[in-house]
Amino acid sequence: MLKILEDRQLQVFEKGVDDYAIECGKASVAGSVSQRACVFCGSRVVLYPVADAIHLVHGPIGCASYTWDIRGSLSSGPELHRISFSTDIQEREVIYGGEKKLYSALCELIDLYNPAAAFVYCTCIIGLIGDDVDAVCLRVEKERGIPVIAVHSEGFKGTKKDGYRAACEAIFRLMGKDSTTPVSSFSINILGEFNLAGETWIIKDYYRRMGIEVTACLTGDGRVEEIGRAHRAKLNVVQCSGSMTYLAKKMQEEFGIPFIRVSYFGIEDMSRALYDVAEFFHDCEIMRRTQELVKSEVSRLLPEIDKYKKNLLGRKAAIYVGGSFKAFSLVKALRLLGMETVVVGSQTGSPEDYDYLKEITKEGTIICDDSNPLELSKFILEKEADVLIGGVKERPIAFKMGIGFCDHNHERKIALAGFEGMLNFAKEIHATVTTPVWKFSPARKKATNIQVQGTSKD
Ligand code: SF4
Repeated sequence: MLKILEDRQLQVFEKGVDDYAIECGKASVAGSVSQRACVFCGSRVVLYPVADAIHLVHGPIGCASYTWDIRGSLSSGPELHRISFSTDIQEREVIYGGEKKLYSALCELIDLYNPAAAFVYCTCIIGLIGDDVDAVCLRVEKERGIPVIAVHSEGFKGTKKDGYRAACEAIFRLMGKDSTTPVSSFSINILGEFNLAGETWIIKDYYRRMGIEVTACLTGDGRVEEIGRAHRAKLNVVQCSGSMTYLAKKMQEEFGIPFIRVSYFGIEDMSRALYDVAEFFHDCEIMRRTQELVKSEVSRLLPEIDKYKKNLLGRKAAIYVGGSFKAFSLVKALRLLGMETVVVGSQTGSPEDYDYLKEITKEGTIICDDSNPLELSKFILEKEADVLIGGVKERPIAFKMGIGFCDHNHERKIALAGFEGMLNFAKEIHATVTTPVWKFSPARKKATNIQVQGTSKD
């Protein structure tokens, strides 16, 4: 039986057993060894796919290595985002300040790479020594004539969500620069789609087939110039709502652009996402094309999925992801594969997100906020999950527990969004769940002898 840290008790909920609102959005409990990333990492992952900008980490080299080439985000052109630049702050700068080093690094990099913009990420140590990063950025911006933006993402100053917000502020600063390039009256921006394994290209192709123009994708395969005209699109479509709802609200206030929240994962949510955009434009031709597109994709996909479903019926899954919107889609996608979700949690869910998870999951499901490896391991064993769906930090937990793993996070190299993404997801889940290697797992053998007694919170 698992004892949950006292300060975390209300962040873990078992449907059918507990009856309270899940606590969330608070700082991680000290000593809990949270799965969450820091503020800096939050901002870095959102801005990372802007491929023609310099990304300079102002801090010790460890911060840069922590986020180096962290995503599978692809670019159709420049690849500056793949290089991790750092000011490599050392003892001397901690004592005398790092502004001079930052200034020289920025000038050198801009002269060498000729980027469209530069982002300077403030890390913990910069917040502590008090460098005036804004002043340095402003000076270089004036001297070199490109946007040089300080991203205030000092790691200690909040949760990963504060990093998303810092990234949104930085993107917002690039907007409003282009008011001449023609923009269609059926145009959208995609917010929170990061082109992992080329997913932005898949989604953009659906919109193209519907007759919709994508003015800017924030930030998948991102370009500074495109962001400069994003303020003239007619609708914002928010895919990763945890990271980009703040920007969508800001654009609504400043530019009057309405927004909708969508998910591109799973057949149900992918179809809904396309129909919601079509409905927004009230255009018969767009709606007709959308119906055609969804019909042809779904009819092609379902027989393929049925092949995998046969071996997956009744299998159990645990989900632990960054944002809850992805978790919603995963619960539904797993159901389509005949599987049951027994554990589901996120790093950054809101009270409304957790209420919705309570609605769509079955009795006995554990729902958790800002979890840690020990909790996740125990939940997996108690609920006898066959697969864990998560990111790079969850992978070792799955393998130590001797169960399958599906990478559904930044690092993946297989597209899981869109209709073809659903097929890839089914293939991957099938391969990892049915591999015979798990029958040799000591943890699994032990798990079968465990008396499941529920989740103790004593
Ligand atoms: S910003 Fe702070 S918490 Fe984040 S990686 Fe750097 S030192 Fe660690």
